[in-house]
Amino acid sequence: MSDTLVIGCPNCDALNRIPAERITQHPKCGSCKERLVTGIPFALNPRNIDNHLNADLPVVVDFWASWCGPCKQYSKTFEMVAAPFAEQARFCTLNTEQESQLAGKYHIRSIPTTIVFYQGEEIARESGGMHPQQLHQWLDEVLKHI
Ligand SMILES: [Zn+2]
Repeated sequence: MSDTLVIGCPNCDALNRIPAERITQHPKCGSCKERLVTGIPFALNPRNIDNHLNADLPVVVDFWASWCGPCKQYSKTFEMVAAPFAEQARFCTLNTEQESQLAGKYHIRSIPTTIVFYQGEEIARESGGMHPQQLHQWLDEVLKHI
């Protein structure tokens, strides 16, 4: 990774440029002053998705829908695993019912589906839910190659 990171704010979506080492020091958004690194997944939509996907941290996206039982279970897993990875990746959710165009754009055929993006490109995809340990191991493997 480079010396500076451009990352999107989970609260206001503004792009912030920070020295890479500051990622562990609770950086705040220059625009809204909220914390840039929360460890809590936040929702993507047509307005903010480009900012977040093109930023310098990998983005792990949980594609889900409210009618999907396994998605509910998996969202708990996703939240649990987001915290320990907070400084390595962004964790986002995408509601495939509300954002059906985005679900189509990324060819989501079943949910839950997890996709890891890095600098705008898809680098890994897993269909179906995972247990916390599985998700953790999968991310360790995927993020190792960045
Ligand atoms: Zn902000």
